[in-house]
Formats: sequence, C-alpha cells, structure tokens
Amino acid sequence: MVLIGPPGAGKGTQASILAAHYHIPHISTGDMLRQEVKLSTTIGRQIKDCLAAGNLVSDSMILGLVEMRLQQMDCRQGFILDGFPRSQVQAEATHALLERLAKPLTAVVQLIMPDEEIVTRLSFRRVCSECTRTYHLLYNAPKTEDCCDVDGAPLIQRADDTENSIRNRLTVYHRQTEPVVEYYRRTPLLKEISAEGEVNSITQAILSALAKVAA
Ligand code: ADP
Repeated sequence: MVLIGPPGAGKGTQASILAAHYHIPHISTGDMLRQEVKLSTTIGRQIKDCLAAGNLVSDSMILGLVEMRLQQMDCRQGFILDGFPRSQVQAEATHALLERLAKPLTAVVQLIMPDEEIVTRLSFRRVCSECTRTYHLLYNAPKTEDCCDVDGAPLIQRADDTENSIRNRLTVYHRQTEPVVEYYRRTPLLKEISAEGEVNSITQAILSALAKVAA
C-alpha cells in the first residue's frame, strides 16, 4: 500500500504502526534519503541541500532506490510506501514497476490535514538521531528531555523542519504531490482519512478502511 499526505500529517507514525500490525516493511523514502546524507555517501552529498530546502530529489534517483528496495526479500508479502510516489512521473513509473514485479497495490491511503495545523506540528517535532522515532515537544514529549525513550539517543530537529522549509514543502506538496492523489482518485484504490485527532483513532480509521478492501 501507499500512504500519501502532506508533510507532518503523520504518515511516518501511522506507517510504522501498520507495518508492525501487518508484519510488512515500512519503506520511507525520506528516511532512506536522510540515511544517505547521514552516511555522507555520494548520493547523500548530492542531495543534502535539496533535502534541507524541502525540494524533491530527482525522480530518477528516487525510482532507482525504491526499485532496489522493493526487490529485497522482506517485501515479498507486501510493503508500506511512505513518501513515495510523490510526483506524477513517480506515480506512473510506480505503476509500471509494480506490474513488472507482479506486486499490485492494494490501497492508497490519503491522510488529510489543513496547512495551518502542519506548521505547528512540524515546528515542535523532534526525531531520534538513531532510530528515527518522532516526538512532539507539547503533545508527545520524551520522558527525559532531548533523549529518545527507546534507545536514549539524542533527539534532533530535522534540517527541513524550519519554518521556511516547512512552507516550501507544503507548496511542493500542493504543486507536485496533489496531482498524484488525483491520479489515484480515478482508481478504486484511494481511501481518504482525516489525520486530525488521536494517533490511535486515526490508526483505527485506516484499519477499518483497509479491512473493507481485504473483504
Ligand atoms: P515530509 O513528508 O515530512 O516532508 P519525508 O521524510 O517524507 O518528509 O521527506 C523528506 C524529504 O526527502 C523531502 O522533502 C524530499 O526532499 C525528499 N524525498 C522524500 N521522498 C521523495 C520522493 N518520493 N521524491 C523526491 N524527493 C523525496
């Protein structure tokens, strides 16, 4: 399945819950790219500034990474794509790729959230520097200040969680990713879910929409 929605709508949070529930991998293209930057690989050095500004990396680069990832053994029973496809070109290429791999999509879950709420959410977001678990300084604060509850590693603010970059990511979302939602709206795959409210109730809404697909 694909999880699609604006930055800060909770795709990462929901994707990891769903991945544990269905025992399938959570594939976050944002996490994959940030890992390249962290390790300062050739790709990482090329994309560092692009990520910090909140622009999309090239379609060809991301398609190459996703294609390699989907061919790994753990994707045999399914996978959750978080942050991909994010442009019309990526959506069309994904369709062709999944046909070639004989892994058709079961559903595309759209998380819906108004822009104003997003800026507040993301400015207070902190992320574990090791396991990428996310926190919100007001609504989901860590037990010990600036430390991850799971592994104790320091929490950091993502380079693109500054106000300028958040606003740019929203513009990029409306311009480049919303057409992808429209693309899936023309298929029976799209499930629209409100991303406002408690994490648990949003998970339940997604699970019940997916149960209907499976039934
Ligand atoms: P968010 O959804 O919060 O903006 P992500 O972690 O999904 O953040 O992505 C962070 C950044 O990684 C994006 O702003 C973009 O630069 C890059 N990125 C992630 N996925 C893609 C993609 N499918 N195509 C192009 N760039 C991507």
